[in-house]
Amino acid sequence: MRPTPGPWLLDDQIDTIFITDADGSPIAAVEVGEGPDEAAPAEADAQLIVSAPDLLEALERMLDARGPCQHDPAPVVCSVCAGRAAIAKARGK
Ligand SMILES: [Zn+2]
Repeated sequence: MRPTPGPWLLDDQIDTIFITDADGSPIAAVEVGEGPDEAAPAEADAQLIVSAPDLLEALERMLDARGPCQHDPAPVVCSVCAGRAAIAKARGK
């Protein structure tokens, strides 16, 4: 499963922030509530969504360069395994 190629762009309207592809086709919309307490999280959510292609590509490159995980078999919080799990989730696997 491959997502729409990046870059993704923000189109900030009055009550909705649209995330589009480079051609302006819609990818997602984040509704902005009324008041500063609701606007700031919505803007942060939209910024995270628009960054997703760059984050995914950077993480894949970083982990490809690193090679196989060599963590201890005991239960640990392994950043390599966590990164690979995040990529699998993003790829719908
Ligand atoms: Zn690991």
